[in-house]
This record gives sequence, structure tokens and C-alpha cells, in this order.
Amino acid sequence: MIMKYVIIGGDAAGMSAAMEIVRRDKQAEVTTLDKGHIYSYGQCGLPYVIDGRIPSTDNVIARSVETFRTKYGIDARTGHNVTNINSEAKTVSGVVLEKDETFHIPYDRLLIATGANPIFPDFEGSDLAGIHTLKTIPDTKAILNDLNDSVKQVTIIGGGYIGLEMAESLAELGKKVRIIQLGNQLANIFDQDMAELIHEEARQNGVELIFNEEVKGFNGEGHVQTVVTDRGEYETDFVLAAIGVQPNTNFLDGTGMHMTPKGAILVNPYMETSLENVYAAGDCASHFHRIKQKDDYIPLGTTANKQGRIAGMNMAGGANTFKGIVGTSVVKFFHLTLGRTGLSEKEAETLGFDYETHKQKAKDIAGYYPGNQEMQLKFIYEKTTQKLYGAQIIGGNGVDKRIDVFATALYHEMTLNDLLDLDLAYAPPYNGVWDPIQQIAKRKS
Ligand SMILES: Cc1cc2nc3c(=O)[nH]c(=O)nc-3n(C[C@H](O)[C@H](O)[C@H](O)COP(=O)(O)OP(=O)(O)OC[C@H]3O[C@@H](n4cnc5c(N)ncnc54)[C@H](O)[C@@H]3O)c2cc1C
Repeated sequence: MIMKYVIIGGDAAGMSAAMEIVRRDKQAEVTTLDKGHIYSYGQCGLPYVIDGRIPSTDNVIARSVETFRTKYGIDARTGHNVTNINSEAKTVSGVVLEKDETFHIPYDRLLIATGANPIFPDFEGSDLAGIHTLKTIPDTKAILNDLNDSVKQVTIIGGGYIGLEMAESLAELGKKVRIIQLGNQLANIFDQDMAELIHEEARQNGVELIFNEEVKGFNGEGHVQTVVTDRGEYETDFVLAAIGVQPNTNFLDGTGMHMTPKGAILVNPYMETSLENVYAAGDCASHFHRIKQKDDYIPLGTTANKQGRIAGMNMAGGANTFKGIVGTSVVKFFHLTLGRTGLSEKEAETLGFDYETHKQKAKDIAGYYPGNQEMQLKFIYEKTTQKLYGAQIIGGNGVDKRIDVFATALYHEMTLNDLLDLDLAYAPPYNGVWDPIQQIAKRKS
């Protein structure tokens, strides 16, 4: 039987699935629908297109729509905005944007991979020119278009990872950068004591930090001129709002699909939703957290690709499972690398875990080898068994490698003591004879 596969969303999760289906079902009829015009691009690279480190948005496109059509035989459609699904009739409906025509497409198996959109602040004055969010290539072009020489002072609302990457990027362009943050620290996925290192790095690079203020609106004549908070008003020539994302799932209202309270589609390990023959993956779906042992929502490209791949394999007849996330991420912030995985101390506390923490500094390579750099590590682990719960590492070189080793250890439910048995690579230009994560384990186990 020839199967009709329909995928909504032509980026990381959607096209990972499409490629698996094409590989596994040679007779497949695959239709992919995206409201935009660009497929399979790395949003993660966009901050670096803005400061010119990456020359063009073309560089972040992995495969063009045309490649999917001609090389892989996928009916890859653009400008198709899906507005409804009918799981009884097994159809997807929507509007072809440029033509204002409706469409109805039947499916045997459907994947929802519609991602998440940045939350655009619904404040007074939000419609003024010069206020942006960053998600897509058109967003990037709009930002680049606005960042002319007359823009001197920029304001970023939100100190999450996009806010941090953009602070660096805009500072690289010679702009005076201010971050306004609702709470008392940047990068909430880190504990406050670790975030202090991020604050120090921000200030050393001329970034002004405003904490504990809530943005209420914007003033200006046609173009934004000030940002108004509950405690003050700040002059600005440009605003980037990076205050979080929400899953693109509104079009599913009324379908009865099971969702998390924040609107992410609940999926089981096979990436199946509560509706028969309907799968979901990526930023629009839930992400099972292995340490928390419950569904979570941590929308990242790495997870979208994995979930999309598994959804595609299963749609084409497989029975593969997504094993879950442990909450790993890494961010470059000026000269620092910020890595974290597992639970932070505040998460462990909220979850009522019986934990202990240990903090220690270590060198990335042999202390006597030129160019060594220091990193600050913080481990969170179960008090009695010393089973690992999480780690945060901030420093220069080598943070990324240690956080990945730790993430692997978390996946395998290792203890501090187990870390000491790992056969990690050592030569003076690459490591100490005891790796930094083993140095901590040695002290504490
Ligand atoms: C600036 C930036 C930096 C990032 N950096 C990192 C990083 O360093 N590491 C990391 O792991 N992740 C990073 N991410 C996150 C990562 O890009 C996302 O997790 C990933 O793109 C999610 O993929 P997705 O396929 O689930 O959703 P998306 O990439 O959002 O794709 C969803 C697609 O669905 C389409 N769509 C939505 N609704 C409809 C509809 N109703 N009808 C038709 N089409 C629709 C959209 O147009 C879109 O093309 C970054 C994101 C941004 C914005």
C-alpha cells in the first residue's frame, strides 16, 4: 500500500522525519507544509550572521526546498499555513498564503513539527518600529536592515541564551548594549552563584545590566525611543525582545489533542500524540526529562532533530523510542563558555531531592602547559548514594567537553565514584592527568 505522509513544519524536526521516511519507505508519498519559504536552516547560527561572523543567512541553510523536491522526491510546499487538522477524516487544512486559497490534504500518518514562536511583548507601543524578536531568516534580515550607524544604544529584554548571544553579537557591532531582566540574574538555567560569573563577564564587556525591573511599554514617534519599566525609562534606538517562546499549537484548538499546560503537545516515547496516526516532535512537543522522570519543555535544536528522526522512523513502520533529555546546553558569551546539564541546585530543591553540591575551580589542561585556562565547576548529586543530578561549568576552553562527559554520565545514571573509573584522554596540551570532573569526584567520593 502506498502511504501518504504529511508533515507540518519544514525545519529541524519536520525534515529529519521526512528524510527518515524517504530512506525507509521507497514508495512513500511525502508532503511537507511550511508557512514560510525556507526549509532546514540553523536558527542557532543567526546571532552570528547578525554580527558578520557568518557572512550570510544562505550559509545557515542546510538543504534548499528545491533539493528536497528534486533529490528526495518530497512534495515540499512553501507558503502553506495549516489552520486545522481533522483526525477523524484524516485531513489537514489551511491557506496558501500568497494566493489566499484554501487547501485540504489527506494523510495516513501525520507529523506536527510546527516549532515554537518567540513571545512578542504585548505592551503599549509594541507596534513601534525598531522592536524585534529573533527566530527566522526574515527576522534576521529585518534586524540587519534596522541596525544602521544611527543605532547606538540597544536594549535586550530577557537574559536567556538568545539574549546573551545577541548581547555579544550587538556589542561586536560596536553598539552599547543594555539587558533588562525581570529577576535578579541572567541565564536562569544556572544557579545564582554561577550566574555571577556571567554578570562579571557582561560588565567587563560594557554590557549594562538592569535587574528586577519589568518592562511595561515603549515610547517613540513611529520608532522606538525609550523602554518603560516599572521603575524607570531608558533611551534606546533598538529593542530585541527575547522573553521566551511558546509552542505553535493554537491551530490544534478543538482537536482534543492532549497538551501540557503551556501548550506543548504531549508525546509518548514513540513520538505519538493522543490522536491516532498523529505524531509530534521538536519545539511544539513535550520532552521527557530523564532525571526529573517526567515530561518537560526544553525546546532545543538538538532535541528537535532527535525527536524528528524517531518520529519519521516510526511513521514508516519502526518502533523506536526517544530516550529523553537530561537538560544539556552550552552557550558562548564573550570569552566564556557556559555549560550545564541535568538539574540545577534550585531545580533539585524545588523537586524535593535530597542533594548536596560541590564547587571547585580547575584548569582545562595541564597547569604547567602554556595557555591553560580556569573553569568553575559546580556539581549537584544525591546525598547518600552520590548519584549525579547535574553540573554547571563556566570558563574558557574545555567547558564543552566536560559538560558532554557529564551529560553522558547522567544518561547512564552514574555516581561521583563512577566518574573516577572513566578512561578519559590525557596529554598535557589537552587535559590534566585527572580530568576536572574527576578532580571533583576525587575530592567528594
Ligand atoms: C537565535 C536562536 C538560536 C538558537 N540556538 C540554539 C543552539 O545553540 N542550540 C540548540 O540546540 N538550539 C538552538 N536554538 C533552538 C532551535 O533552533 C530550535 O529548537 C529548533 O529550530 C526547533 O526545530 P523545530 O523543527 O521543532 O521547529 P522550528 O525550527 O521552529 O520549525 C517549525 C516550522 O514550522 C512552521 N510552521 C509553524 N506553524 C505552522 C503552520 N501552522 N503551518 C505551516 N507551517 C508552520 C514554521 O514556519 C517553521 O518553519 C536556537 C533558536 C534561535 C531562534
